[in-house]
Amino acid sequence: MVTMTSAPFEYMRPKTVAEASRLLSKYGGGAKLLAGGHSLVPLMKLRLASPQALIDLSGVGELKGINSSASGLSIGAMTTYHELESSVEVQRAAPLLADAASQVADAQVRNFGTIGGAVSHSDPSADLPAVVLALDAVMKTATQRAGRDIPVERFFKDFLTTALRQNEVLTRIEVPKLPANTGTSYIKQSNKASHYAVVGVAAVITLGADGVCERARVAITGAGPYAVRAKRTERMLVGKKLAPNVIRNAAKRAGAEISGSFNEDVHASAGYREAMTQVFAERAITAAVANAR
Ligand SMILES: Cc1cc2nc3c(=O)[nH]c(=O)nc-3n(C[C@H](O)[C@H](O)[C@H](O)COP(=O)(O)OP(=O)(O)OC[C@H]3O[C@@H](n4cnc5c(N)ncnc54)[C@H](O)[C@@H]3O)c2cc1C
Repeated sequence: MVTMTSAPFEYMRPKTVAEASRLLSKYGGGAKLLAGGHSLVPLMKLRLASPQALIDLSGVGELKGINSSASGLSIGAMTTYHELESSVEVQRAAPLLADAASQVADAQVRNFGTIGGAVSHSDPSADLPAVVLALDAVMKTATQRAGRDIPVERFFKDFLTTALRQNEVLTRIEVPKLPANTGTSYIKQSNKASHYAVVGVAAVITLGADGVCERARVAITGAGPYAVRAKRTERMLVGKKLAPNVIRNAAKRAGAEISGSFNEDVHASAGYREAMTQVFAERAITAAVANAR
C-alpha cells in the first residue's frame, strides 16, 4: 500500500537566511528547507523523504524580489514561476527564463514553485536547470557565517544533487545581461500530465554583424541524470554562419556530455531520449538563431 501522508515533522519559520542556516546546522542533515513545497511535499507524502524538521523560507524577505541593473538580473530564490513569467524585467532582460517558466506544469504549480527550489532540487526533468545553465547564471549562497558565488556550471552535480552544502541556503540567482544580437529559445517535449521535460533544450545564440555565430550556449534537461551544457555542439556553432546543415550537424552531438546513459523510464526509452535530444537541440538552436536575427 502506498502511504499518502508524511511522517511527523517539526516546523519552523525563520525570518533571516542566517537563522535558516543556523537551523540547518542544528539538525545536521535532519532538516529540509521548504520553498514552494511542490517537489519536497510529494516526496514526503510518499515517504521518500522524511525530514525531522521543515524550515519554511516563506518569511525570509532577503530571498524575495527581482532586481534589474545594467549588468543583468538578480532574482531572489523564493521568486515563483508565476512571478518570473509575468515580470516585465525578466521578459525584457531574460525572455528565455520568462518563457520557460510559463511552460512549467500548470497555474497552481507556477503559483507555488520557486526558482530556488527548482534548481536546488536538481530534478533530472525540471525545466529551469537547463535555462540557468544556458544563461551562465551565478548562484549566490549563504550560511550563518559567509556567502559564496557558484558559477552555474559547477552547481549541478548529479541526480537530485547540487554543490550546495548541508547548511547552505541558495539566496539569489544572478543572470548576466545578454550580449547584443542574441536570440534565445527553450523547447521541450513535455510529459502530457505533469509537463515535466521528457527532453528539453535551452539555446542562447549571439550573432556578429556578418551573421557568424560569436557565442553559443546550449543546455539539455530530461535526457540524463542532471542538466548539462552541450559544449561539443556549442563549439561546432561558434565561428560559423548557421545554415540549417551546420545546425543539424552540431545538434547531432548534443547528447555527448550526458553523464552515463540516457534516462529510461515509463515515459520514454533511453534510445528515444537520445534521438529527441538531437531533434530538440536542432529546433531550439534554429529558433534562437531566428530570434537573434
Ligand atoms: C503536478 C506537478 C507538475 C510539475 N511539473 C513541472 C514541470 O513541468 N517542470 C518543472 O520544471 N517542474 C515541475 N514540477 C516541479 C515544480 O516545479 C517544483 O515546484 C520545483 O521543482 C521545486 O520548487 P519548490 O519551490 O516547490 O521547492 P520545494 O519543493 O520546497 O524544495 C525542493 C528542494 O529544494 C530545496 N530548497 C528549496 N529552496 C531552497 C533554497 N533557497 N536553498 C537551498 N535549498 C532549497 C528543498 O529543501 C528541497 O530539497 C511539477 C510539480 C508538480 C507537483
